[in-house]
Amino acid sequence: MKTTVVIGGNFAGMTAALEIKRKGKKDHRVMVIDKSPLFLFIPSLIWVPFGRREIRDISFRKDSILRKKGVEFIQAEALKVDPQLQTVMTTKGDFTYDHLVIATGPKVKYDVAPGVGEYAHYIGTPNGAMKTRKALEEFKKNPGPVVIGATQNAGCMGAAYEFLFNIEKWLREQKIRKKVDLYWVTPETFLGHFGIDGMTGGETMLKTFMKIFHIHYRTEVGIKEVSKDSVTLTSGETINSSFTMLMPPFIGVDFVQNSPELEPTQTGYLPVGEDYRHPKFSNIWAAGIAVDVKLPFKPGKVPFSGPKTGYPSDETGKIVAENIIRVTQGKTKLKKKAWGKIPGICVMDAGKKEVIIISDHLFKPRNFAIMIPNVLYDFSKVLFEKYFLWKTRNGYSQLP
Ligand SMILES: Cc1cc2nc3c(=O)[nH]c(=O)nc-3n(C[C@H](O)[C@H](O)[C@H](O)COP(=O)(O)OP(=O)(O)OC[C@H]3O[C@@H](n4cnc5c(N)ncnc54)[C@H](O)[C@@H]3O)c2cc1C
Repeated sequence: MKTTVVIGGNFAGMTAALEIKRKGKKDHRVMVIDKSPLFLFIPSLIWVPFGRREIRDISFRKDSILRKKGVEFIQAEALKVDPQLQTVMTTKGDFTYDHLVIATGPKVKYDVAPGVGEYAHYIGTPNGAMKTRKALEEFKKNPGPVVIGATQNAGCMGAAYEFLFNIEKWLREQKIRKKVDLYWVTPETFLGHFGIDGMTGGETMLKTFMKIFHIHYRTEVGIKEVSKDSVTLTSGETINSSFTMLMPPFIGVDFVQNSPELEPTQTGYLPVGEDYRHPKFSNIWAAGIAVDVKLPFKPGKVPFSGPKTGYPSDETGKIVAENIIRVTQGKTKLKKKAWGKIPGICVMDAGKKEVIIISDHLFKPRNFAIMIPNVLYDFSKVLFEKYFLWKTRNGYSQLP
């Protein structure tokens, strides 16, 4: 019997663990170690500040689901790994493994510029989303200019765009839109670059949205400083802001950074091959955001990064599971798929309207790429949410 320890059990880790157990059955002992006992459908956090979702609607206990499928669950924080001893140190003791899967997601780099952590809101955590909801309630009483955007080095631009269009809709619903100057600030070289070098028609579509909804925008800018009532850009411009929401960069978590033998990149991600296997330690694998992904485009004046979205996170979890099974069966031919060659499947919610993004490859070169706007309703994102929650609640990790 082989033991696989999976660190982090949300998108990538939960898929990897369930798939190893489903395929390996009695030959595999699988253990998930996660700080949180909850599965969280992160993409719906953008709706929490507006009261369209509560945290309980988009999260549930994952330990019982994993156990039902024969996967052990330990609620603990992994601190570091000793690859020679094949041991992970955690807040609940040490665990040895035959294979280790690292699926720890991101750490948010709030200190990217002065004031970002203190004065800008961030919607990517339950706490941050709820704080944003409270701040918007206050803002309503005394509306003023609003700045939404992404900082230099950010990669998760899509979620910030989603928040922008959702807040625009919310301002209209609150009947305060006319009192608010709304700004979008982004390090992208053009609107709709998304860290994937854009898609045909994407820039035009976003420019049209900005015009229709009277949103001012600045591209190729970073954040110099955020204060209680302003945002200063690297271009030197200062924009007054009564409410600011920014997407900071993601970096690797402390667990990875505290394990120097894994030779993490400067940003704390794991250098793995197209089989998601560590080049130095053949029994260590990475999946999801923890994977180092090379920039698929030439950076502009202001650096920014590529997106690590849910579909490739899930997909890399599946590839890692398949490869661990193959290795333990003595096979040498492993499944390989570069991050950028995984299909791009994403829905950008724009507040009761949406843009569906589909391509054969996430990164260029692509054989096809299409952005389909739906201005009538955002049912694709709602459907995606319902499907993903249903699939995960039932432990159907084999489904796409
Ligand atoms: C606001 C927002 C909106 C988004 N919207 C979309 C969208 O619409 N579509 C889309 O495809 N993607 C979206 N994404 C991206 C998507 O959420 C990620 O691709 C996905 O969550 C990555 O999965 P992961 O498993 O790598 O990391 P995560 O989902 O972040 O999971 C990491 C897990 O590791 C655990 N962990 C971390 N460190 C440790 C440790 N030391 N010890 C133990 N456990 C640890 C955490 O508790 C967590 O459970 C969005 C992201 C954000 C922030």
